Amino acid sequence: MKIKWVKADITRLEVDAVVNAANSMLLGGGGVDGAIHRAAGPELLEECRTLNGCETGKAKITRGYRLPVKHVIHTVGPVWHGGSRNEESLLKECYVNSLKLADEQGLKSIAFPNISTGVYRFPKERAAEIAVDAVKNFPAKFVEEVTFVCFDEENFEIYKRRLE
Ligand code: ADP
Repeated sequence: MKIKWVKADITRLEVDAVVNAANSMLLGGGGVDGAIHRAAGPELLEECRTLNGCETGKAKITRGYRLPVKHVIHTVGPVWHGGSRNEESLLKECYVNSLKLADEQGLKSIAFPNISTGVYRFPKERAAEIAVDAVKNFPAKFVEEVTFVCFDEENFEIYKRRLE
């Protein structure tokens, strides 16, 4: 599996699926979630309404609508509460469950934002370590390329150091 990292707006990526760092309602929000819904258009919200939300660590898939992708995989990252509420395993589950969905659909390329490192306040260095480990250890059948999409300079430098 090829692993890449870029500094970019995830709504501009042309891949088979982009992952959305959603909240448990799956009805849109701020940050990357808001950007994805704005770029995909109102049809995405309509499909999301039929999904009955999503638990933390789990993932659900929709179409990509006006985004240049086939699918959006919505996952719900943990809110960081200091590390004693299973946050690390839940973050790992977000990456693993998103990859499982992509692989089950036979998708070849997937792009992840830095889940939970925005308003959910997960420490960025530890989040990157968990993300990279989860991807490297995933037994993919179809997924060939994973891109870590960093939006802020700090995350970009962290992924660069880890993956270069
Ligand atoms: P969370 O609630 O999971 O913390 P946020 O959306 O607040 O979600 O932040 C997650 C990460 O997504 C942050 O690192 C933030 O910088 C990044 N982000 C925000 N907007 C975009 C975007 N358009 N493309 C890619 N990443 C983004």
